Amino acid sequence: MTAHTFAAESRRDNAPDAFWMPFTPMRAFRQAPLLFERAEGMHYVTPDGRRVLDGMAGLWCVNAGHGQATITEAIRAAAGRLDFVSSFKMSHPDAQAYAARLCDFAPEGIDHVFFVNSGSEAVDTALKIARAYHQARGQASRTKLIGRAKGYHGMGWGGLSVSGIGRHKAVFGPLLPDVAHLPLPYDRASMAFSRGRPEGGLAAAEALETLLQVHDPATVAAVIVEPVTGSGGVYPPPQGYLERLRAICDRYGILLIFDEVITGFGRLGAPFAAQAYGVRPDLMSCAKGMTNGAVPMGGVLVAGPVYEAFMPGPPEAIELLHGYTYSAHPLACAAGLATLDVFAEQDILGSLAKVLPLWDERAHRLKGAAHVVDIRTAGLLCAIDLAPRPGADGARGGEANALCLDAGVLIRNAGDTLVLSPPLVIAPEEVEEIFAAIEGALGQID
Ligand code: PLP
Repeated sequence: MTAHTFAAESRRDNAPDAFWMPFTPMRAFRQAPLLFERAEGMHYVTPDGRRVLDGMAGLWCVNAGHGQATITEAIRAAAGRLDFVSSFKMSHPDAQAYAARLCDFAPEGIDHVFFVNSGSEAVDTALKIARAYHQARGQASRTKLIGRAKGYHGMGWGGLSVSGIGRHKAVFGPLLPDVAHLPLPYDRASMAFSRGRPEGGLAAAEALETLLQVHDPATVAAVIVEPVTGSGGVYPPPQGYLERLRAICDRYGILLIFDEVITGFGRLGAPFAAQAYGVRPDLMSCAKGMTNGAVPMGGVLVAGPVYEAFMPGPPEAIELLHGYTYSAHPLACAAGLATLDVFAEQDILGSLAKVLPLWDERAHRLKGAAHVVDIRTAGLLCAIDLAPRPGADGARGGEANALCLDAGVLIRNAGDTLVLSPPLVIAPEEVEEIFAAIEGALGQID
């Protein structure tokens, strides 16, 4: 071991790319690293003191805004009390308390939660529970999983298999074999610039019936959708769509999974999309906003009858041979409990309800701005589609993103789609600041 192994400062000449970063062009990042050192409320602060308005709630996760003192203090106290305890055949009080309160926050009929550490783990766990559920009920032939075009379900093998973003799968070889996909219920010609949810959901959901004519319904375990497609470009469900998916799944004994990793924890103005749209799935994956982004955590919320199906065996038998070392980590549970406290004490959903009409109205005022071919909003989400520059797909999106950052506003772009998902505590003048930055950027790109 050399003397400098434990030196406080590394002497490596590759220090800037020792961290191989997720979804990042490493060589470009190294040329122009973007670092944030602190965060408070609606803002990040760079090492040289520049404040940047966070138009993405971190990565769709800091829903109650940065630096919530209640959450920070709860994490600090938990770390001093109990650093770690396994959840395999033992537990701790905060895990028990958080599970119960989370089920109260979730729609009626969701009575159990399986804790994991990320959205990807939540999705893979939900898919495994779905298959195991059918096994437990003597229907072992039900193994197929149905996802949807443009769906993003994380980076585990299961989530990637049901994902509907082809380029994410391109270089990783064979994925799960028993998978099919629904089309995205979106047609720009008839739906562009819809305010609220577009019409046509019933017809769009018939695609599931069509798919089930190709795949024997008795071989299908579950349908998984994001209630609002998130990373794929913010596509709200057309009216009647989710209701119809629910009805078709019920008819054929197929489980319906909502991936609520983005739509959960207030993003749509209700605790989950299931409540916002009045459709209850059998399983819901969640993560991100659970701890306000402060500690990694995910969960699968499980309806009573699904859980009960696992229970008939001998009481000493483990009903689900699945789990993670850090499931229900004490710091994460403390942060989760504190996040629910913050939602209640600061009436996050109440103030969000007041800002949503402005959000919608201001977003749609960009209709007619240069390059804009569609604008979609759902709760405090927004996507602005730009026409691609001929021969340079994604260039306008990337340039608009960079110009917004220059103007002090952090947004995201998925190719030529600009995406917004700020903290739910946004003030009216910050709504204006975000859209004014985008308007300014669009005026500068050709
Ligand atoms: N599911 C959805 C809908 C997501 O948006 C994401 C992440 O953005 C995931 C799953 C994966 O979550 P994580 O990155 O925490 O694994």
